[in-house]
Amino acid sequence: MNFESARQRMVEEQLIPRGISDLRVLTAMRKVPRHLFVEEALQDRAYGDYALPIGEGQTISQPYMVALMTEALELKGDEIILEIGTGSGYQAAILAELTREVYSIERIAPLAVRAKRIIEGLGYKNVEIKIFDGTLGWEGKGPFDGITVTASAPDIPKSLIDQLRIGGRLVIPVGGRYYQTLMKIVKKKDGITKMAITECVFVPLIGAYGWKDGER
Ligand code: SAM
Repeated sequence: MNFESARQRMVEEQLIPRGISDLRVLTAMRKVPRHLFVEEALQDRAYGDYALPIGEGQTISQPYMVALMTEALELKGDEIILEIGTGSGYQAAILAELTREVYSIERIAPLAVRAKRIIEGLGYKNVEIKIFDGTLGWEGKGPFDGITVTASAPDIPKSLIDQLRIGGRLVIPVGGRYYQTLMKIVKKKDGITKMAITECVFVPLIGAYGWKDGER
């Protein structure tokens, strides 16, 4: 399989027609080798229009969802960004292409270790990954210009709003365990504004300000 042409087709057929228009986001999606973030047996499907399993019951998100969430962060290149839910490491690599510093938290250790190996192997120097409950944020690294949460929360965690700078953006799927709304929250001096981006389906965010482990 020619991964390079599959990746260009992914951008032309899945992202641009659905309205992704930030040229920097499109360039990053054209560049990052998504197939290296999935196991070898799934590499031929890495540029398909769907999420794929990455082990531990988790997934690498659909390319369109990665692009949409990244675009919503409105990155210009100099931001400090927090990602919650490293998973495969793919979105962290996309963010690393687009901004100055990326901090990414994953609660499942084998996923974090694998993602770190792939990201370092690709030569990214601006990504730090830690194994932790991301619903608590990453004290000491913020305030963040943007936070993206790639797992779904029952509510917007206040802990994350607290770690955003004024003007900062939080992109997060919020709703029931099996079906959610992707929300964009902007922190203002006197509160927050909320905007619904689209309906979506994500794996659950499990932690102190997320779902309880095993909760249904
Ligand atoms: N961004 C990922 C990628 O590019 O592959 C996709 C991540 S997957 C849809 C969601 C991830 O969130 C899972 O790996 C899951 O273990 C992780 N997760 C769930 N709750 C978490 C928490 N409280 N803190 C950190 N990671 C969490």
